[in-house]
Amino acid sequence: MITKRLLHQIVFIGGGSAGLTTASILLKKNKSLDIAIIEPSHKQYYQPGWTMTGGGVFQIEDTVRDKKDFIPRQATWIADRVVKLDPDNNAVLTQEGILVEYDYLIVCPGIQLDWHLIKGLKEAIGKHGVTSNYAPNYAPYTWELLKNFSGGNALFTFPKTPVKCGGAPQKIMYMADDTFRSKLGVRQRTNVMFLTPSTKMFGVPEYSALLDKVIAEREIDVKFRHNLKEIKAETKEAVFDVFDANGTLMDEVTHKYQMIHVAPPQSAPDFIKQSPLAVENSPYGWVDVDKYSLQHNRYPNVFSLGDASSLPTSKTAAAARKQAVIVAENLLALMDSKPLLSKYDGYTCCPLITGYGKTIMAEFNGYTSTPLSSFPLNPIKERWIMWQMKTTLLPWIYWNRMLKGEQFEGDYIKSIQWQNNQLSCPSGGEPNLMQKLNKNVN
Ligand SMILES: Cc1cc2nc3c(=O)[nH]c(=O)nc-3n(C[C@H](O)[C@H](O)[C@H](O)COP(=O)(O)OP(=O)(O)OC[C@H]3O[C@@H](n4cnc5c(N)ncnc54)[C@H](O)[C@@H]3O)c2cc1C
Repeated sequence: MITKRLLHQIVFIGGGSAGLTTASILLKKNKSLDIAIIEPSHKQYYQPGWTMTGGGVFQIEDTVRDKKDFIPRQATWIADRVVKLDPDNNAVLTQEGILVEYDYLIVCPGIQLDWHLIKGLKEAIGKHGVTSNYAPNYAPYTWELLKNFSGGNALFTFPKTPVKCGGAPQKIMYMADDTFRSKLGVRQRTNVMFLTPSTKMFGVPEYSALLDKVIAEREIDVKFRHNLKEIKAETKEAVFDVFDANGTLMDEVTHKYQMIHVAPPQSAPDFIKQSPLAVENSPYGWVDVDKYSLQHNRYPNVFSLGDASSLPTSKTAAAARKQAVIVAENLLALMDSKPLLSKYDGYTCCPLITGYGKTIMAEFNGYTSTPLSSFPLNPIKERWIMWQMKTTLLPWIYWNRMLKGEQFEGDYIKSIQWQNNQLSCPSGGEPNLMQKLNKNVN
């Protein structure tokens, strides 16, 4: 039932990392825009901080602020949840029955965690050794498990779907490994296992090769082509489907666990999947946008970015920040009946924590799977300075610059396209690095 009707020039679905950043950029460019943000949550989370919470570096309270402090002053906040999309009539419906009509729509409600797709997981999560950093109510429990662990199987899983922050399922494993090693005899009594449907540690070959070394040094038991399908909480067992090289189901294996960190399967929120905005015939239901302009492929007055979009790059806040600029510029061009000239290049970044005090600042082009660096440093290296960035500077940048629509800091430093054939310095012992870099900066 429709309880109220509203009309706004630009309507956002979701005021999270992507929505707040884009709205702020738009209002910086034109204060008179009539923007409404439909966003049900009164809290804004810095989700990358949940890895740090699981690793005992942050408290969960360090990762959350009041949403009201980040909704731009000039925007209207509709504190409600969208339940239905009607792009043929330029309208969306909220849970409370508000029909919001728009001239332009920006869709960024984030990703849906499909806990229910793993049998027994919903019931088991948050107790008796089953945890996940993918939700703020469980991340503190990860740290409880790590610090109290006394030996046995510690499992870390990756699902069969795309996820937000593809590195998160393994970052916590390296912190766990360090924690176990810091306690007398615990690591010797522990089998740390990473189980993933993938056949490699990371999508970008250069970073993947470096992670292979990290895995080998830490003596982590990696099981590729393994997909978690069931948690048996009573017996503390995890059941996995095992696939052959062609992706054909081959076997089923069960591993006992003393603790298991699960990255749940993920997809677009159901109300997107069930709408005309979704990619047709896709199980994930992402919002179907052009990968360069971020404009919807069938509804020109609709844009999407962030985790819910179909953009074929790694889903991160860092990516959403770059996408926000493109959406803002192209939307303003469309409103002025000008061509949409801004192009998103697939940039993303997943700072890979490889232990306390060590991080690989994995910036890359997700469209070409090639490393990038915003710094005059080889990115294919574990660095203490990047750990400092990850734990102190990046959270500050998120709250004080990104969500406020400020320019990407890396723009101040010339971006470098890493060409592996010219730069063979994965271990970082690079005598001619600056010379090589200069060659690559144009
Ligand atoms: C454990 C973990 C570690 C991570 N680490 C990193 C990292 O190191 N670096 C990095 O860059 N990224 C990282 N990320 C990913 C990053 O947080 C997300 O990619 C980013 O927040 C995506 O932004 P978004 O706006 O698309 O989604 P979100 O920030 O999730 O925002 C979506 C918003 O939409 C709202 N919403 C949901 N449903 C509706 C609805 N029906 N109607 C209206 N509004 C709705 C939500 O309340 C939310 O506020 C990590 C994520 C996790 C979970």
